[in-house]
Amino acid sequence: MERKITRVQPQGYCGGVLQAIALAKKCRQENPDTPITILGNLVHNTYVKKALAHYHLTTIEDSSRSRLQLLDDIKDGIVIFTAHGVSPQVYDKAREKGLQIVDATCPFVSQTQKIVQDHLTQNAWVFYVGKKGHPEAEAIYSSSDHVILIESTQDIPSHIEGEIFVTNQTTMSILELQSIFQTIKDQYPHALIHDEICNATRVRQQAILDLKDQNVDGLIVVGDPSSNNTQKLAAIGKEAKIPYVVCVADATEIDLDQIRTCHHIAITSGASTPTYLTDQICRLVSSDAAKPEPVDIDCIL
Ligand code: SF4
Repeated sequence: MERKITRVQPQGYCGGVLQAIALAKKCRQENPDTPITILGNLVHNTYVKKALAHYHLTTIEDSSRSRLQLLDDIKDGIVIFTAHGVSPQVYDKAREKGLQIVDATCPFVSQTQKIVQDHLTQNAWVFYVGKKGHPEAEAIYSSSDHVILIESTQDIPSHIEGEIFVTNQTTMSILELQSIFQTIKDQYPHALIHDEICNATRVRQQAILDLKDQNVDGLIVVGDPSSNNTQKLAAIGKEAKIPYVVCVADATEIDLDQIRTCHHIAITSGASTPTYLTDQICRLVSSDAAKPEPVDIDCIL
């Protein structure tokens, strides 16, 4: 059967991920003998974490503990804050412990944090649309009792008095976010709404929606299960009514029998997915190969 394959653009690391990886590598080069610990996953991809370990960069991660709690495990040396940012309390605690700080927070995340802090200083309530437990969201909702986390419309408080500022995690679904914003606006017409979805997230999601008239019957989203922007790409694919949507971390997770029933397959990837992994998947689905090539970890970074 003739099968069409479309690589949805853009792909590869976003600017924030590129910056974080470059900072971590530079930190190791400049400090060859110092213990360096990354506080959580530098970016949400298991292969990137493994590749960083080859540079003797240790990652400490435990989804049941906050960044503030994880910091207790670092005794000395350099701490790298991840692309998702940290709360001011984490910054203060790292300084008090005498750790040297390298901050790899993405500039778009820093911008959201600054806007939120500005409105908190003006005594506004902040409704923050994001995901509980995600480090980017945690850095904001753990910073003040005046931040209310909104994961769905059910979390919108029924009665809040005073100024309300509404913003969001940078990697939310553009469709879901508009719906939540509208519900907030209906309930609190005076609320000031500020959409902070980053450009890398927006263009990747829009590119999926733009497939609408191309008879795509299969969408492969390459990325880590822990990556929010990857999960949202799949959600957008389902919203766009693509019949078969699958998220895979690498080529071993491809269901070749299923994929080979599709006539037009689109392949996209999250902003923290190494292009090397996406290339392997493209080669696999374009060929008649029975199994994927092995991953060479030295090709990841
Ligand atoms: S997805 Fe957006 S916010 Fe996250 S690191 Fe990339 S550019 Fe920054």
